[in-house]
Amino acid sequence: MNQFLSRRYFILITTMSILKFFLKSKKALASSEDSQEEWNLTQEEWKNKLTPESYYILREEGTERAFSSNLNNEKRKGIFYCAGCNLPLFNSDTKFDSGTGWPSFWDSIQGSVETKVDFKLIVPRTEYHCSRCGGHQGHVFNDGPLPTGKRYCNNGLALKFRAE
Ligand SMILES: [Zn+2]
Repeated sequence: MNQFLSRRYFILITTMSILKFFLKSKKALASSEDSQEEWNLTQEEWKNKLTPESYYILREEGTERAFSSNLNNEKRKGIFYCAGCNLPLFNSDTKFDSGTGWPSFWDSIQGSVETKVDFKLIVPRTEYHCSRCGGHQGHVFNDGPLPTGKRYCNNGLALKFRAE
């Protein structure tokens, strides 16, 4: 009887440790999918992943021609994602027609973009990029509509839109 019990106990412990191992590795995989390191790609890897136009915007801080993006006139309800890593950046509820020829938003999805100041046009401008893959998106200005007063002036080539 004792022997029978200890054998069952042994099987139970073994099964549990195998299960634990699988649960642990699955959890590690899930969290790494969202990490920045996952998107720390080399120049070559980005070139293979993106179109040349999107590469120029996202990885070389380029700017597309005004009125060249279809997303400028996009008026459907939905989400605008980073064209580099698919992180949701803007909700269509915050999109407005700024008349500049670039898709414009008065707010970004919380935590999705980070800013830095650049001096490319001598006058300092605030550049912003995707907080996950670091892809350059556009510039943010303080002449937007209420409630934030912000104008996120975004390159359409740096975004992907999915209608709801
Ligand atoms: Zn991104």
